[in-house]
Amino acid sequence: MSHIETLCVQAGYTPKNGEPRILPITQSTTYKYDTNEAMAALFDLAPGYMYTRLSNPTCDAVAARIAALEGGVGGVLTASGQSANFFALFNIMQAGDHFISTSNIYGGTFNLFGVTMKKMGIEVTFVDPNADDETFHKAFRPNTKAFFSESVANPSLVVCDFERFVKIAHEHGVPVIVDNTFPTPVNCRPFEYGVDIVTHSTTKYMDGHAATVGGCIVDSGNFDWFAHADRYPMMTTPDDSYHGVTYAKDFGKMGYLVKITAQLMRDLGSTPAPQNAFYINLGLETLALRMERHVQNAQKVAEYLQKDPRVSFVSFPGLKSDPGYELAQKYMKNGETCGVISFGVKGGREKAIKFMNALKLAAIVTHVADVRTCVLHPASSTHRQLSDEQLIACGVAPDLVRLSVGIEHVEDIIADLDQALAAAEA
Ligand code: PLP
Repeated sequence: MSHIETLCVQAGYTPKNGEPRILPITQSTTYKYDTNEAMAALFDLAPGYMYTRLSNPTCDAVAARIAALEGGVGGVLTASGQSANFFALFNIMQAGDHFISTSNIYGGTFNLFGVTMKKMGIEVTFVDPNADDETFHKAFRPNTKAFFSESVANPSLVVCDFERFVKIAHEHGVPVIVDNTFPTPVNCRPFEYGVDIVTHSTTKYMDGHAATVGGCIVDSGNFDWFAHADRYPMMTTPDDSYHGVTYAKDFGKMGYLVKITAQLMRDLGSTPAPQNAFYINLGLETLALRMERHVQNAQKVAEYLQKDPRVSFVSFPGLKSDPGYELAQKYMKNGETCGVISFGVKGGREKAIKFMNALKLAAIVTHVADVRTCVLHPASSTHRQLSDEQLIACGVAPDLVRLSVGIEHVEDIIADLDQALAAAEA
């Protein structure tokens, strides 16, 4: 059962004789035990369900499916992609710590790292992904705890050079965490290139229908916390709030994920509703099929836009001229990334807005990566809070339009873009 198409449909839930064929929704906050001792054991972290703020069978089955797709040892669902990225980092950090992130990441993550986590006393250094190795090495400090990047960045579509970043980070003894939302494990499996931890906004292609906000963290189980015990005391020394449990020792390769569930979910919540996990599960069943069509359509749309004189630039790693083309060929299945394209409408910010307003099939939404074609002008929406300097640092030009190509017929999508480009010229 190793093919991705099969795992999308079958992994994570195997009903026993007479049980429901479809993953049941366990819509229950609590779990009943026959004895006081059985309940007490859960508070020593014996296997089992205690309270849905920490874990729930429906959510766990979906996390197990995503972990199987990524080739990890396990996974944890979170209430959003934002909480997935926050928990993935905060699980191994505290006030006074530092981490490094590539600079061209999703605006919401940029804000989380640069503003909110800073208020918690955790500092980030953003580094341009195209900077040379020396610049990256210089960014490390004695208190650096992680290296973060996006596999295909939102919205700049820069492809991550996994092997280069893994080599640099591991030389400094810190794990690499990659947000793999855009290509999904159907097109890219970062663990195969040495990445340690993967995160997702399941809100995007995994759900695929724009029905639920959610996130997931998957661990490869490969990072050796004890090899860097002084840097990660939260993994390698006893946790007083759980009777002296030492996560990396008592739970081995599962230690990092057990800590998220037992400590962060307990104290901070951010658990998804089981109903939402059920929707994500339905989305996952068709993920491989949908990704194929998204990428095929996006390739045709990108080729059309590239030839059009009304378009100032097109970023799509499927184009031979794209700076990400070689990296996509190296790291993504058949060089295929996702259905998202960034392009500029010649004439700058104003023309881009005129183009947006003329679209008929493509809807303006603050979202990407669902079955319906949609668009956004990041400079006036998701990235509105960023200064021009920060915008350029994230790879977002003021005339950039982010186009998420859906699974409608590609000729209808192109016809809509064509008439809107004409309207922007008028
Ligand atoms: N990571 C990436 C790459 C994203 O595109 C997004 C949202 O657009 C997020 C994380 C945040 O996810 P969510 O909106 O599910 O909180």
